[in-house]
Amino acid sequence: MTELPIRIDEEQCTKCTLCVQACPFDAISMEKKQFPYIDLEKCTLCGACVEACKFEAISIKEKAAAKAEDLDAYKDVWVFVEQHEGKINSVTYELLGEGRKLADDLGMDLCAVMLGSGVSDKADELTSRGADKVYLVDKPELEYFQDEPYARVPVKLVEDYKPNIFLCGATTIGRSLVSRVAVAAHVGLTADCTELAIDPETKQLLQTRPAFGGNIMATIISPNARPQMATVRHKVMKEAEPRAGRKGEVLIQEIAQDLLTSRTKRLKFVQEIESTVNIAEADIIVSGGRGLQKPENFSIVRELAEALGAGVGASRAAVDADWIPYSHQVGQTGKTVCPKLYIACGISGQIQHLAGMSSADVIVAINKDPDAPIFKVATYGIVGDLFEIVPMLTNEFRKILGN
Ligand SMILES: Cc1cc2nc3c(=O)[nH]c(=O)nc-3n(C[C@H](O)[C@H](O)[C@H](O)COP(=O)(O)OP(=O)(O)OC[C@H]3O[C@@H](n4cnc5c(N)ncnc54)[C@H](O)[C@@H]3O)c2cc1C
Repeated sequence: MTELPIRIDEEQCTKCTLCVQACPFDAISMEKKQFPYIDLEKCTLCGACVEACKFEAISIKEKAAAKAEDLDAYKDVWVFVEQHEGKINSVTYELLGEGRKLADDLGMDLCAVMLGSGVSDKADELTSRGADKVYLVDKPELEYFQDEPYARVPVKLVEDYKPNIFLCGATTIGRSLVSRVAVAAHVGLTADCTELAIDPETKQLLQTRPAFGGNIMATIISPNARPQMATVRHKVMKEAEPRAGRKGEVLIQEIAQDLLTSRTKRLKFVQEIESTVNIAEADIIVSGGRGLQKPENFSIVRELAEALGAGVGASRAAVDADWIPYSHQVGQTGKTVCPKLYIACGISGQIQHLAGMSSADVIVAINKDPDAPIFKVATYGIVGDLFEIVPMLTNEFRKILGN
């Protein structure tokens, strides 16, 4: 008989129902009021009931480390395709670019996993950018992102096809989805990687990410579990270029209807009004920091950004002070950006800010403190008062660019 992953000790259990109340997935019920019953279809083994039980009556079987032959059954490099209303997020192309290298090093296929409604015509775009196979789940229920079905479907595909590596963008959607998939697959997840590589000897995925506030780079491996799962930040890796005529296999997946249900429903989608240019995609960014002194002064940064057709960025200090919404924050806990030109106004350049912008092609820093750390990464440094310099730059750019 197969041993259940979670069990309730009948002798210890007092039928107090604390576990029923604690379960966030509604997976435990009192069977005819006799004894708690766990619905394994709903249970995610999250452990909330184990913690809630005062009588130590519930236990979860720890998953044993996988054997080498089990790991060998896991093939291919998978990339989760993030799309909104049929438009593929460019982080997907970055993952395909990186995934291609990993798949080649392993001698495996690169596969894209796309969920959505009416998106089948997008598969060619993925194969032209390096995918050998596209697992396509095209269902009306997947029209827009919802946590439950969007996590259940990849879990099912992982069970069926056993990928070796599963990559996802470290975006709002990616972070929400992939953590659920990792929990359900009982594997670890390395979030926010900045570098991925294959160890030539062990063939394991080397997942490198900043640790301890960005002061060290840690390389993480998952030797005992598959798939090896990682999220990668937007703009850290180069996009795979499309190659005309490159073809791949499109595998349409039929998914049981019960996996597509959701307890939540989207009422409406509200586009953020504030942000004019999405900084993650912008070629030019003008950013403001605490040196702006008060929220009204962000107008100086916005005017320069407008003159240049740029996006507006901010340091965390400015965001924390409520001068500008979080979507503008650049840095370790904000967005990673890689524009052609980054102008930092009144930003000191702490390591956590640099983590999000130091790969910009040209960095211009305006700061009144000549010892500010931002000058160490700046291509051009202007030491002076931003309230004089930034409006001067705006006027000059307006004259030159004619707007
Ligand atoms: C775990 C963690 C995560 C973090 N994540 C992020 C992140 O994602 N992004 C981020 O930005 N920060 C992040 N931080 C915060 C970071 O450490 C800094 O506190 C923050 O970046 C400082 O913002 P700032 O440069 O605007 O402010 P300050 O460090 O206060 O710098 C203001 C600068 O403005 C200059 N200045 C003042 N007046 C003028 C003037 N009139 N003209 C010209 N220059 C002037 C000053 O000389 C100074 O250099 C994080 C911190 C932690 C601990």
